Amino acid sequence: VPKFLVGDDGSIGERNGEVCGAIEHKMGIHGNATCVLNYDGAKGWLVGEENKGLAAMFIMMNAARLGVGVQGLSQAEVAYQNAVAYALDRRQGRALTGPAEPEAQADPIFVHPDVRRMLMDAKAFTEGMRALCLWGALQVDLTHKAKTEEEREQADMLIGLLTPVIKGYGTDKGYEVATNMQQVFGGHGYIEEWGMSQFVRDARIAQIYEGTNGVQAMDLCGRKLAQKGGAAIQAFFKVVGDDIADAKGDDTLAPMAEALEKALGQQQAATMWFMQNAMQNPNHLGAGAHHYMHIMGIVTLGWMWLRMAKVAQAALAAGGEDKAFYEGKIATARYYMDRYLPDAGALRRKLEAGSESLMALDEDAFATAA
Ligand SMILES: Cc1cc2nc3c(=O)[nH]c(=O)nc-3n(C[C@H](O)[C@H](O)[C@H](O)COP(=O)(O)OP(=O)(O)OC[C@H]3O[C@@H](n4cnc5c(N)ncnc54)[C@H](O)[C@@H]3O)c2cc1C
Repeated sequence: VPKFLVGDDGSIGERNGEVCGAIEHKMGIHGNATCVLNYDGAKGWLVGEENKGLAAMFIMMNAARLGVGVQGLSQAEVAYQNAVAYALDRRQGRALTGPAEPEAQADPIFVHPDVRRMLMDAKAFTEGMRALCLWGALQVDLTHKAKTEEEREQADMLIGLLTPVIKGYGTDKGYEVATNMQQVFGGHGYIEEWGMSQFVRDARIAQIYEGTNGVQAMDLCGRKLAQKGGAAIQAFFKVVGDDIADAKGDDTLAPMAEALEKALGQQQAATMWFMQNAMQNPNHLGAGAHHYMHIMGIVTLGWMWLRMAKVAQAALAAGGEDKAFYEGKIATARYYMDRYLPDAGALRRKLEAGSESLMALDEDAFATAA
C-alpha cells in the first residue's frame, strides 16, 4: 500500500523511501489539494475492456466539461458582483457630461463610460452564459426524459455540439471578465485586501483543466462539426434560425433578430470555409478552431439573449410586476447585439486567413533574438 507523507518542507509522497511528488504551488484554487505524483516504475492495471477506455472517460468528461463551464461563469459572476458594489462606492473624477453629484468632491466611477463598458460586458456575458448553462442542463435532462426518440436525439446532438463551447468559450470569457472586474478596482484590484486577484487566479485554471480550451476548439471543429454528416451543426443553425424568423415579427425584437442573423451568417460562412479548405490542409482547421469556437460562443449567447428579450417583451406587454427587471433584460440584450455580435465578423476573417502566415516560420526562428 503506497504511503503518502507530507514533510516539513511541503514535500509529499514518500513511498518505499523515495519521494514521488511535491506539493504544487498553484497560482489559484488553493482550497483544492492538488499535487504532482510521479508514478515512475509503477505497475498499471487495465480497468474494463481493452480499447474502450476513451469512450468510458468521455462519459465522465462530458459532465465535467459542463461543470467547468459553470466555473467560468461563477468566477465572472462573483467578480462582477464585487465590481458593481465598488463602482457605486468609489469616487474619482467627474462625468464627461458634467458633475453627476456636484455637492460631492468627485463622482462615483460608475459614471465613466469606460467603467460602464467593463460592467456592461460582464453583465451581458454572465446573464447570457447563465441562460446557456441552464439551457445545456435542460438538454441533458431531455436526452434522458424527452417523450419522443426524435426529441431525445435532437437534445443529445445539440448538447454534444455545444459542450466544448460551454467549456471553452465560457471559461475564456469567464477569465476575461474576471480580469476586467479586477480592472474596475484600479490599484485596489491588484493588492490582496479586496480579494479580486484571487478571482482572477481561480478563473485561470478553468481554461486549462478537463482538456485545454485549444483542445475543446479541436473537439468542436475536428469532431463535432463533421459528426453524422454535419447533422448537429445543421440542427443548431435551424433552431437559431427559427427563433430569428419568429422574432422578426415584433418591432422591439426585429433589430436584435437581424443583428443575430448577420452573426449567424458569419458562422455559416466560416463553417463553409472549413468544409472547402480543411480537407486539403488540416492546419487550416487547427489555425481557425479557436476563432470558430469563439464565433459560436458569440452567436449562441446572442441566441440566448434573443430568447430572454422575447420573454421580457411578453412580460412587459402583459403589464405585470418586475417592470425594471424586464426592461433591464431588453437593454442588456440590445447592448449584447451592439457590442458582442460584431466580433463574429472579425473572427471569421481571421479564420479565413488560413494557416500559411501562422505556420510560415521555421521553429529555429522563434529562438532567434530580434
Ligand atoms: C490544478 C489542476 C488540477 C487538475 N486536476 C486533474 C484531475 O483531477 N484529474 C486529471 O485527470 N487531470 C487533472 N489535471 C490535468 C489537466 O486536465 C491537464 O493538465 C490538462 O487537460 C492539459 O493537459 P496537459 O497538461 O497534458 O497539457 P498538454 O497536452 O501538454 O498541452 C500543452 C499545450 O499544447 C496544446 N495542445 C496539446 N495537444 C494539442 C492538440 N492536439 N491540438 C491543439 N493544441 C494542443 C494545449 O492546448 C496546451 O496549450 C489537473 C491540472 C491542474 C493544473
